[in-house]
Amino acid sequence: MKQLNKQVEEVEFLEDKSSSGKMRDWSGKKKRNLSLSEIYRMIKESYRKIHSEKFNRFLNREERCRMCATILKYKRDKNGKRTLYEAYFCQLRLCPVCNWRRSLKIFSQVSKIIQAIEQDKEHAYLFLTLTQKNVSGEELDKMLDDMMYGWNKFMKYKKVKDVVKGSYRGLEITYDKNRIITKKMYQEKKDYYKKLGLKIGDKNPNFDMYHPHFHVLIVVNKNYFTKNYLKHEEWQKLWAKAMRLEYLPQVNIKKVKGNTAEAVAEVAKYSAKDSDYVIEKDLDLSMNVVETLDYVLQGRRLVSFSGIMKEWHKKLNLDDAEDGDLINIDTDKDEELEGELKLETYAWNVGYMNYVRV
Ligand SMILES: [Zn+2]
Repeated sequence: MKQLNKQVEEVEFLEDKSSSGKMRDWSGKKKRNLSLSEIYRMIKESYRKIHSEKFNRFLNREERCRMCATILKYKRDKNGKRTLYEAYFCQLRLCPVCNWRRSLKIFSQVSKIIQAIEQDKEHAYLFLTLTQKNVSGEELDKMLDDMMYGWNKFMKYKKVKDVVKGSYRGLEITYDKNRIITKKMYQEKKDYYKKLGLKIGDKNPNFDMYHPHFHVLIVVNKNYFTKNYLKHEEWQKLWAKAMRLEYLPQVNIKKVKGNTAEAVAEVAKYSAKDSDYVIEKDLDLSMNVVETLDYVLQGRRLVSFSGIMKEWHKKLNLDDAEDGDLINIDTDKDEELEGELKLETYAWNVGYMNYVRV
């Protein structure tokens, strides 16, 4: 027993803090990653039974996902500052670890780009959300094609081109996993449910529907609000036209408040909510959603830069935000290490469900 206690005492867990002192939630993300790997395994097994060729695809997914970020190698300086210098990331579109790293990376890239643009103090920033009706899993792939096509058309309209000097565009797909209307859902959209004559506990009409939408950060000239101003209805009509919709879609446009690069970059976050598709309470449903999203996201570009933002992305020599390096995400400006460096390795430990120093 004594022996065991001694061993326990000697275990050193990973404590990775950002320069602002915030603890990075590696173990939380890794646990979600393992849940996803387990869902991939279950999908694989379902295909093994029917001798489907898809078996191999999901065998590969399961393994790749499980191997993601199992070993983290850090350099540590005399002040205890750490930077990651070696790790394997699976790069799967749905991986909770990789998506977290991507979102940190995009935040850092957009911050740097906005900082560069802000030098001349000639710009202002808008946050635009472009949506359309929810779709089923079967309709999702076609809808994403339409949205990508619609986006390119939208950006070529004269009214848009006159206003938009640069942009960051991210695709987000949310999924409605609630079979019934919960109290929280009802409180958030009371009018909507009332109109449909629905109450808490009723069947959720949007259950199993996907909601793909674009989050867009737009750079405009400072005089936009006095000279080239586009009203909300105009943005809405332009998006409806680009998408050939027979209804007016929900479109949201607002000025970005706060003028620091970080405040601006905040709205550009790369968001993929793993809680939408890693559904531990409902694994059958989870298998369906993961397979659907895995299929439709394969090979798609989820983020893109245009205009002045694209130019600065190139000038600043930033790499691909999605498929690029996830080790040096460069979130911290003052992460330069000082003095003699020590190398430290942490490995994922299935017993502790945490990263342990080895
Ligand atoms: Zn990963």
